[in-house]
Amino acid sequence: MSKTVMEHADASEVFNRDEPYVNWHDETLWFVRQKRDKSSKQLPEWEQLREAASGIKHYVLSHLDELLISFEQKAKENGVQVHWAANAAEHNEIVLGLLKKHKIDKMVKSKSMLTEECHMNEFLQKNGIEVIDTDLGERIVQLRNEPPSHIVLPAIHLKKKDIGDLFHEHLGTEAGATDPQYLTEAARQHLRDKFLTRRAALTGVNFAVAETGSFVVSTNEGNADMGAHLADIHIACMGFEKIIPKQEHLGVFLRLLARSATGQPITTYSSHFKKPREGQEMHIVIVDNGRSTQLGRKDFRNSLKCIRCGACMNTCPVYRRSGGHSYHNAVAGPIGSILAPNLDMTKNADLPFASTLCGSCSNVCPVKIDIHDQLYKWRQVLAKEGHVPKSKEIGIRAMSTVLAAPRFYQWSGRLGRTVMRAMPFMVNNTLNPWYKQRDMPEPPEESFRDWYVRNRKN
Ligand code: SF4
Repeated sequence: MSKTVMEHADASEVFNRDEPYVNWHDETLWFVRQKRDKSSKQLPEWEQLREAASGIKHYVLSHLDELLISFEQKAKENGVQVHWAANAAEHNEIVLGLLKKHKIDKMVKSKSMLTEECHMNEFLQKNGIEVIDTDLGERIVQLRNEPPSHIVLPAIHLKKKDIGDLFHEHLGTEAGATDPQYLTEAARQHLRDKFLTRRAALTGVNFAVAETGSFVVSTNEGNADMGAHLADIHIACMGFEKIIPKQEHLGVFLRLLARSATGQPITTYSSHFKKPREGQEMHIVIVDNGRSTQLGRKDFRNSLKCIRCGACMNTCPVYRRSGGHSYHNAVAGPIGSILAPNLDMTKNADLPFASTLCGSCSNVCPVKIDIHDQLYKWRQVLAKEGHVPKSKEIGIRAMSTVLAAPRFYQWSGRLGRTVMRAMPFMVNNTLNPWYKQRDMPEPPEESFRDWYVRNRKN
């Protein structure tokens, strides 16, 4: 792991220093999870929808070649220019090339986790292009010069006061103002001018339909539409897994996406783009960036079914209490911890361990990805490939020796209980990660096994 990036456990420790704030973060995300529960329970066919979505995505992953070719062909027939990028660098160069060709040095952008994954904003800014994020949450984190902490709710780690202070500094709102309506109106006015003066707009893609060559972008703010409709050039960027076979499949995914993400029955704007309007250029950049490799990993290919709803983050006890930035990856939380090691095992070896493996993520996932199983499998791969720290490896080996020998296990338990009673400082010290935030429990007089044997005899 790079020395400049803090490991998840260390970053979480920093995040956890402010306990009331962590409790607030935890409760806020749990509130979103509860909204998802309520909304999904209103649909008797919810489980059938999940099953259908998972099945469609399974088909997609087995027929990517033909679906992508069909999409390209239809999109071209519609007058859209299609580009292919093998990796993040190629993606960024394609976008830069298009802007340079049209002598454009300012662009608006709606939410696109792919561009976060490719670090596109930094790249374009280094090349003299100003990029303005127009999703409110994205604009907030952009003004703070930090990445989003959640794929659907990018500024969920911030309180109203933080945003009031930020807008006072950058947008000139009244000092101390925290009224959400007032602050949103200020952002609206600030962004309006950007929409009206930018000649290029970049959007993400939620679903690309192979049979029509069209694509759908879902937002709650209408910012993708504002940007794309006003600009001379609309660039839409998508990971290749965003493809779905038919228009009729959209109903399945759109119903699942909004309910899983925020508990809404439908996202406010689900905009269908098919061809450029007269005088406009429309481009689609289809990106691989490690997806082919993940597709080839039998145990992990299902992670490409993800529709980026964020439900697995909202439910994850580790995410809720460690915050999105602790994951040092564009996509945080359980799904990010499966996707990240595929991109860089050395840098992201800590992430599959940022989980209790409770399985809540898999239970809420609208496309039924076996998230916690994959996290467990990544741990095995990382250990086998030598990406696990020596201390952890030694600990795991020691545990497996103890657990494999019942007598040794009993003896170790007795020794442990004696040490905890006679010399509590041996375990209650800062070398023990557990002790950093809680006392060790009182050791029992006897083990469960001893109790069981005694009572059974009786
Ligand atoms: S893995 Fe599932 S729950 Fe998590 S973001 Fe993707 S689709 Fe949503």
